[in-house]
Formats: sequence, structure tokens, C-alpha cells
Amino acid sequence: MSRTTRIERYRNIGIMAHIDAGKTTLTERILFFTGRIHAMGEVHTGSTEMDWMVQEKQRGITITSAATTASWKPERGLFAGTPHRINILDTPGHVDFTIEVERSLRVLDGAVAVFDASQGVEPQSETVWRQADRHGVPRIAFLNKMDKVGADFAMSVQSIRQRLGANPVPVQLPIGAGPEFRGVVDLLRRRAFFFDEASGEPSEAQEIPEPLRSEAAALRLRLIEACAEVDGTVLGKYVDGRLQEITEEELERALRLGTLQRQLVPVLTGAAFKKKGVQMLLDAVVNYLPAPSDLPAVEGVTPDTQVKVTRPANDEEAMSALVFKLMHDKSVGTIAFLRVYSGTLRTGMAVLNTRQQRRERVGRLMFMHANKREEVEEVHAGDICAALNLRGVRTGDTLSALEAPVVLEALHFPEPVIQLAVEARSRGEQQKMEEGLARLGAEDPSLRVEVDSETGQQLLSGMGELHLEIVVDRLRTEYGVEARVGQPKVAYRETLRQKVRQDYRHVRQTGGPGQYARVVMEVGPAPRGSGLVFVDDTHNGVIPKEFIPAIE
Ligand code: GDP
Repeated sequence: MSRTTRIERYRNIGIMAHIDAGKTTLTERILFFTGRIHAMGEVHTGSTEMDWMVQEKQRGITITSAATTASWKPERGLFAGTPHRINILDTPGHVDFTIEVERSLRVLDGAVAVFDASQGVEPQSETVWRQADRHGVPRIAFLNKMDKVGADFAMSVQSIRQRLGANPVPVQLPIGAGPEFRGVVDLLRRRAFFFDEASGEPSEAQEIPEPLRSEAAALRLRLIEACAEVDGTVLGKYVDGRLQEITEEELERALRLGTLQRQLVPVLTGAAFKKKGVQMLLDAVVNYLPAPSDLPAVEGVTPDTQVKVTRPANDEEAMSALVFKLMHDKSVGTIAFLRVYSGTLRTGMAVLNTRQQRRERVGRLMFMHANKREEVEEVHAGDICAALNLRGVRTGDTLSALEAPVVLEALHFPEPVIQLAVEARSRGEQQKMEEGLARLGAEDPSLRVEVDSETGQQLLSGMGELHLEIVVDRLRTEYGVEARVGQPKVAYRETLRQKVRQDYRHVRQTGGPGQYARVVMEVGPAPRGSGLVFVDDTHNGVIPKEFIPAIE
């Protein structure tokens, strides 16, 4: 069997957003339009397709990073008419779970950044944006909730420029705002599309309404200028300071190039809740975001000699795959989500888990669609799939061909910030709790489980109070253990720049971006001073030096 979709037609994307910007709603609408689900759950009723776990449903937030496979045939643009496979990695938006965001950013190739058009850039969108910068992820922006009172397209674009230091390039202009939001002007085609109120379907192309013409023309010029900065063909259209005729396709190519090189961010808008603008966003995902083959080959090291190796994304290379997520399923056991970077992985194949130095035989492989699991015989470079029956696998492990072992770049996990003691109510429960914690620890490398040598209690350390609350919740719902829980304590973590460390000998910080953190300075074993500081998102968890003297 060979691959059914060529690698150039893959888009492995994440949807990243501040909590409440509408990521879950948008994901659902995407799954609806890609034809995989028929009945859409509404977020507030707690029945969305991506939110798999009970806690997420109860809390209405998205924690897991489930991958869903969908397909889309764009109507417009460079790849119009060609079916593409879109793998959607659901990235969490809550600050306590930024570690999960990191993990999914590692395996995706491009992202849609969702903003609430009435708010513009919010603190958490900044955190996620900078993480995506660090991972070099090309992005397009979707200004959601254009139907909300107070929605402001220009303000939102401006805040992307100012707060994120990005180069946002609107490819659309909304027609109306708030309750009057009715459609978009497509700036490339110079045409207006109106959305059907009930279905969200865009109308046939129409003339741009008169009151919007000059604004649309100005934005289109700005778009052409941005394209000229990244693309010689478009630049060549300026002859003696005058702009020559330029085709839609030339602009599309330049926009794709600029996005892939991360020099610009195409901006689209809509209202996911009302299904408006979602199809055009999907067209943009295919047209502007990279295929796995557009990106540099994945890098890793040989397990013994630590020699650097690269594995280009094609089927003939030696197989390499990274486990980026484990989930536990009552009927089938542990499901490992894999990103295949190179080669072909088949069921029954013997592979090496290089981090654990263990041979494994690959069990069942499947694609997780929104409404079904599709079992397959083999998966290929660029695929994101689920594997069953891998023994003792942990998040972050590499699976590689026996003859060409490789360890893909280690996933980076920050030190935990919060610690909680938990105690079983009975001896019987004690064993169940230990088993449960061992499994949860394997699923989630940002969770640490240890035994307190003084009290004999189990100590859980994690990324925030909510993170640990969810662990305790899962013990109850999945393992039937009602653990007694102590008071959360801060666990120190050192995240300060070397420079600050040198100046102050020893500075310890607790709490991450968007939280209050206690900073303790020590000289030798003795604390010299301590105080609470607010860790600004823009500093990415690193306390800037100017804050330090204030707490002495
Ligand atoms: P998430 O936290 O980013 O996943 O956001 P959700 O998808 O859960 O949405 C948060 C809230 O915003 C929910 O109450 C949604 O119904 C609402 N919402 C989502 N999209 C839209 C939209 O396009 N317009 C309006 N007015 N509300 C929306």
C-alpha cells in the first residue's frame, strides 16, 4: 500500500488562542465544514468533539492536545480544487498548560492564531505567540467574533502589530461589525462575499459595497507592498514608482512565501459561532501554511555517539517518529499520538524506542477523525496518527528504524511550580492511586510524582494549581480514588537569566507568566530577601533585572 495523499497536500496545524477567543468553537466549525461531523455540539452545553475528557467538558476549557484528521478542497487560491489532508492539533489555551502548547508546537508545521476581534491581542495570546516564535511556526491570524458588539478589525490588526511585533497583512476586510457583520471583502480578488445567516455559506462574488471601496483599495495596496518586500516578482511590478498589472496568483504566491518565511501574517476574519468565514479560513490554511515537505528536515542525534543527523520528510528515508501525546482509553488502553517525520511505519514492524533503548513491535495504527477511527496498515512521513499497544512508551520518546537509530530533539519541559501532597483513604486505594499516578506521569511529563521521605505521602508537582486539580480529578473519575489533598505549595524553579544569577548569586522564582511569583535571593544558604513580583507575559517567565532591586 502506498500513501493516499501526497506529502505536499498535508497541512499539520494547530489552533492557538487565548482562552475564550473561540478556539473550540472554531475547531468544531472546521470539523463541520471538512465534512467529518454532522451535529455540532455547542461549547456551553459541554459536548464538543475535541474536548475529549470529562474535566474539559465540566470546565469548558481545552486541555488535551488531541489530533484530528480532516480533509479540505479549497475553492480559491493556489491549490483550488485539490483535496488536502489537514491534521488539527488542539493546543490548549490555559496558562497552566503552556507545556502542552509547547509539546504540540513541536510537532505542527503551521498555526492559526485566533483572536477575539473585540479584544485584540490578550496577555495569553502573547505567551503562545512567543512560544510559536521560538519554534519558528508560520502563522495566519483569524479575528474571530466579528459579530460581537465592540468588534474592531483595525484595532485588532494594530494590536497584532504593536503587541506581538508581527507583520499582519489583512487579506480580507469585514463588511459591517457587531450585529451588522455580514460578509468580507476579499482583497486579492477585489470582490465582496456575503454570508448566509443560517448556514454561514458565502455568497457568489459581488461588487465591493461603495462605502468600503477606498478602505479596501488602501488595504490592497498595503498588501501588495508587503508582498513586494518578500517576493521579487511582485517587487518587479513597481516600474518607475508605478504599479503595473498584477495577478491574483502572483499575490497568492508572494503571500505563501512570506508566510512560510515568517515575514508576514495573513489576517482573515469571521464569526466562528455563526459559521461565518470558516471556509475561507480553511482555504487560507491550505494556500498559505506549509506542507511538511516545505520545511527543513527534522534534526536529531544518534543515541550512542550524539552525532547530529537530519531526516528529510520523505517515505524512502529511514523511519523516525516522535511520540507527542499519550491518552488512556478504557477500551483499547494507551493511545500514543505520533508524528512521523521520515520513512514509513507499518503495523507489525519492529522499531527502536531510542530514548528507552528498547525494541518495540508496532501494533495497530489509526487516524483519528472527528467521528471515527480509521485503522490503517501504514503511515508515512508527515502523518500524524495514533498507535496502540506500545509498551511503556512515554511522551517525548522517539521511535526509529532499527538500522538507523535516532533521538529527535528532546522535548523541553520546564520545572514544576506547584506541589501538592495526596493521600489515599485506604490501603486498597493506595495501590490504585500509585498505579494511576504512574500512568498519568507517563502521559504528562510536566507532572512529577514522588514520595515524601518524611511523611510517606505522595507528592505531585506540576505547572499550576489547575494542572494538579485536574490530576486529582482524573484519579477520581478514571481510577475511582478519592485522595485526601493537602494545601498546594510553591515548588521553586529557576528560570532566571544567567546574567541575573551572576549578579545576585542565587535567585529563585516561582510562578510563570501571568502569575505572581515569589522571588527569593540567596547568598550561600541564607535567604537575602524575597518578595512578590508579577511576571509579565512579555518576559516569558523570566524576571527582568529591573524588578530585582525592588525586592531587596
Ligand atoms: P476557547 O476557550 O478559545 O476554546 O473558546 P470557545 O470556543 O469555548 O468560545 C468561548 C465563548 O465565545 C463561547 O461562549 C462561544 O460561544 C463564544 N464564541 C465563540 N465564537 C464566537 C463568535 O464568533 N462570536 C461570538 N459572539 N461568540 C463566539
